[in-house]
Amino acid sequence: MTTAMYPGSFDPVTRGHLDIIKRASRMFDKLIVAVLNNSAKTPLFTVEERVEMLRECCKGIPNVEVASFDGLTVSFAKARGATVMVRGLRAVTDFENEMQLAHTNHALLPGIETVFLATSISWSYLSSTIVKEAAHYRQDVSKFVTPNVEAALLAKQRHGDV
Ligand code: ADP
Repeated sequence: MTTAMYPGSFDPVTRGHLDIIKRASRMFDKLIVAVLNNSAKTPLFTVEERVEMLRECCKGIPNVEVASFDGLTVSFAKARGATVMVRGLRAVTDFENEMQLAHTNHALLPGIETVFLATSISWSYLSSTIVKEAAHYRQDVSKFVTPNVEAALLAKQRHGDV
């Protein structure tokens, strides 16, 4: 039984992330989507909100679990028995950072392997930052995110947070 982990900020989850989640869930017995509670970044959504949105999006995929963590990703992977890290690669611009991360994680925990999934071409331009930017300028974000995430973004708009 192979447990994989898909770590990220997911602030908020996009259709690009969901594409990776669906594909990775077919490759491994179990997939833990791990939401980083990163104190160095100021997210738009709290970690609880991000987890809740992801759970709603993934409720139809039985082998996917959503959890939050802080600290080192490899420590969380070890604690949960995950041996594979899944990351999405959008473009060459992602490559350098992702390679550095993969090598660091492997140095910290030699049992861990990173698997890169090439982003589907239709989502290769998409990022959580772009979604927040579009929401800020009152653009329709329904093609980028699921209806529950769109509703959450609209609520943030009403409060003037985005
Ligand atoms: P991080 O802060 O770790 O970059 P993100 O939530 O931005 O967290 O991304 C998590 C993972 O999802 C990363 O591997 C990233 O490359 C991937 N990813 C981000 N956007 C997309 C997308 N549109 N399509 C596929 N993968 C994506």
